[in-house]
Amino acid sequence: MPIVNLLSDTVTKPTQGMLEAMFRAEVGDDVFREDPTVNALEAKCAALFGHEAALFCPSGTMTNQIALKVHTRPLDEVICDEMSHIYQYEVGGYAFHSGISVNLLKGENGILTPELVDAAVKPRQDWLPKSSLVVIENTCNKGGGSIYPPERIRAIRAVCKKHDLALHLDGARIFNALVETGDTPASVGAEVDSLSICLSKGLGTPVGSVLMGNQAFIAEARRVRKVMGGGMRQAGYLAAAGIYALDHHVERLKEDHIHARLLASALAELPYVANIRPVQTNIVIFDLVAPVPAASTADPARLSAAKAAGTTPAAFLDYLKRNGVIASAFGPQTIRFVTHLDVKREMVERAVEVLRGF
Ligand SMILES: *Cc1c(COP(=O)(O)O)cnc(C)c1O
Repeated sequence: MPIVNLLSDTVTKPTQGMLEAMFRAEVGDDVFREDPTVNALEAKCAALFGHEAALFCPSGTMTNQIALKVHTRPLDEVICDEMSHIYQYEVGGYAFHSGISVNLLKGENGILTPELVDAAVKPRQDWLPKSSLVVIENTCNKGGGSIYPPERIRAIRAVCKKHDLALHLDGARIFNALVETGDTPASVGAEVDSLSICLSKGLGTPVGSVLMGNQAFIAEARRVRKVMGGGMRQAGYLAAAGIYALDHHVERLKEDHIHARLLASALAELPYVANIRPVQTNIVIFDLVAPVPAASTADPARLSAAKAAGTTPAAFLDYLKRNGVIASAFGPQTIRFVTHLDVKREMVERAVEVLRGF
């Protein structure tokens, strides 16, 4: 019985076709820009999103951190949602690498509005950080895979222009958004100064992210990648996986979204689930009904009722694991499921059975 791994869309292993593409890759030393497959991947991404240039990097954390560094000077600030990956999950790198502060906004499930951004921009005063960059995340991981409506991005872009701010898109899961909205990569690319995409999430490669921007931005980004230790040599084997993924694994993301909705509709029927964030793509985030504290359950009838409904993430995840389903805690009472390339329909159906058995 294969394990149903809903931990993250980063857990995918290369398919046979991807491995063959990697095996056949022509490679060279990319620090000297002599890896033809890396060059091809960068050119492909730049053309796809309508940007002048692209840079292949080991991780999405690195592409984001490079973008922060190139767009800002020390004592600047970046404006972003409090759920942003750059704030939550990149070890505070904005302060470490770039010497900048962060101006956190409360959007809806990680999605900002132009009004929120406009009101957050600081006036130019000697005693204030200088607002210089806005980062949006599409889809937003902590927001439950939430999608930016395209017109929202355009409106935020207009606010950025008004205040002379750069706009960076953390598009780790941009293709999950695009297959739902039906927009083209170029239409999103046109609204931002830089963007980062992950090849190792839903697209299923073992390693890699790509940063895009204009020539001057990518020239500087290449230097910052090197100082961070991200200059790779025969990286074409990894780039080949990326090219394969862009050609074969984008449209099928819709299946992951169907699978996520199946899981969510099963959860909606279950007594131990308190609430589920709206499911728009491949991420399902939900809260468990909290266990009733022992002191308030002296009455044995109430105690068994409480036990029946309430649970801790640890107990729930342990039950799932014993039944071949892997997931993760995403807060004190919160669980996250992520669907991906290696989760097939029959595995989703099995996971639903396991959920019903708790
Ligand atoms: C995964 C992810 C990243 C990058 O993560 P790495 O593990 O460093 O590749 C960036 N932003 C978002 C929204 C992500 O989900």
